[in-house]
Amino acid sequence: MNRILLKNALVLTLDPQCPLVRDCDLVISGGKVEFLGKQAEGRFDRVLDASHWVVLPGLVNAHTHTPMTLLRGLKDDCDLDVWLRDYIWPAENALTREDYYVGALLGMAEAIATGSTSITDMYRASGESIRAAVECGIKANICESILADESFSPLTHAGVLESHQTVRDFNGYDDGRIRIDTSVQSCWQTVPALWEHIAGFARDEGIGIHVHLAETTSEIDHCRKTYGDSPVRLLDKAGIFQNRVAAAHCIYLDDEDRQILKDRKAVIVHDPASNLKCCCGFAQLKPCVEQGIPIALATDGVCSNNTGDLFDTIKLTSLVQKMLSNDPAFLTANELLVMATRNGLLSQGRAGEAGMIRPGMDADLIAVNIDHPSMQPLISPEGNLVYSASGAMVELTMVRGRILYYKGEFTTIDMDRLRWQVKQIVDRY
Ligand SMILES: [Zn+2]
Repeated sequence: MNRILLKNALVLTLDPQCPLVRDCDLVISGGKVEFLGKQAEGRFDRVLDASHWVVLPGLVNAHTHTPMTLLRGLKDDCDLDVWLRDYIWPAENALTREDYYVGALLGMAEAIATGSTSITDMYRASGESIRAAVECGIKANICESILADESFSPLTHAGVLESHQTVRDFNGYDDGRIRIDTSVQSCWQTVPALWEHIAGFARDEGIGIHVHLAETTSEIDHCRKTYGDSPVRLLDKAGIFQNRVAAAHCIYLDDEDRQILKDRKAVIVHDPASNLKCCCGFAQLKPCVEQGIPIALATDGVCSNNTGDLFDTIKLTSLVQKMLSNDPAFLTANELLVMATRNGLLSQGRAGEAGMIRPGMDADLIAVNIDHPSMQPLISPEGNLVYSASGAMVELTMVRGRILYYKGEFTTIDMDRLRWQVKQIVDRY
């Protein structure tokens, strides 16, 4: 059994019982946290000096489209419609399945290097994202991005068939490290027959549903004009919320929508950078939090962000929500870190798996360099992590006790080869 000791660690456990433990030994074995305290005993396969780190649970990026990492910087500073129709969709349509794999691996490399130990990924040909996740060692909930028009038939729809196939082949792969969910891309890009099919499929398979929800005013207008109701209520009537749902964006909600999300135990996945960059609007988190709806955090696809660094999202969430609510006390540093870890796992159906550094839990953890000038002085480790840190300060990323990234080096990804592969693709644009 591979047994690792992190020596002299400052550990932000996010465990309400003992949030911060100083100068301790942290022992990892069998993929789990084995011991946290003074003077660990026994033999170790590896001892790491943790005296320059704050160690915390790995971040969870609860909504992204990793293959789109290939489109980072393709076109910025542009109207959303023009951006999609003239740049993003044509570029996406020119990508091959092999390109999706390369993009997915690049996105996962960025996630690992900036401190995410688990991601939720939604894209077409999701078998390629699964292939990348299987290889690189990250935890991932992956779903096929499913769009449908009035001609929809579950027997012939390519996305639905890929979704069914990947669930059969990979749901629960590697003892649950890989989970396969399904999706409704959005209400405006799909039809009621698909919503009902997906609701039943998720129920039969016991899997979750990922959806872009209430993201733009044009989506709200479309749903009201076409079906006479809000996107949340339409999906609820179709049975979507009888399953575990991770709902990305949720900018335009009314009281009744929020009550449905609360009653059905849905998780809102907040993507502020993408919303701001595309001028979609601001999600008002305070009424959601007050109503008891859990909020997870995400970067969204990198081409509308343009970073997969979740630390950036944590700070942005805090600043925008304080301003919107006119309440500087809204969302403490601890609450933001819980959103970026435990609530993300909740949205993935992984509650209790990790999200705290506590014996018995999966050793999904990261270490941030506290010697960096931006991390000094360290009066408040939580405050520095939320307001001062960036993913570039991450020196260790571990998933189930396996070191995936250590001081700039990947253990599962050949970054030189990956850079070369990315360049070959981009040269074709
Ligand atoms: Zn998205």
